[in-house]
Amino acid sequence: MPSFRPQRFKGPELNARSADAARPSAAQRGYDWRWQKYVTAFRARHPLCRRHMDLFDRPVPVAHVDHIERVTGRDDPRFWQPENHQPLCRHCHHVKTQAEIAGAHFTAARPYPDAQPDELGG
Ligand SMILES: [Zn+2]
Repeated sequence: MPSFRPQRFKGPELNARSADAARPSAAQRGYDWRWQKYVTAFRARHPLCRRHMDLFDRPVPVAHVDHIERVTGRDDPRFWQPENHQPLCRHCHHVKTQAEIAGAHFTAARPYPDAQPDELGG
């Protein structure tokens, strides 16, 4: 008579590995459950978009924890460096991502041509 043992999850790490297997693209870059947990804590400490505050002195709720210097993944030493993290709203994160794709170098204090105050409602 075969014995049946229900498979039990041993913890979030095991669950994360399963999720990684299903969605390799996000996991390969290191954005796993541990990062999500960090993001939640980071947003509680930094509730406002840094770029909106720097450029327009305008409070906009944070949406993303952005890597100031682009990282290659979890093994990148800058991935977990707090100095390399900044709070950005969805719009600013999108602008930065587009700029990175275009090969530009982003700093929060440097305005982009597309960052018009009226576009951002400021
Ligand atoms: Zn913003």
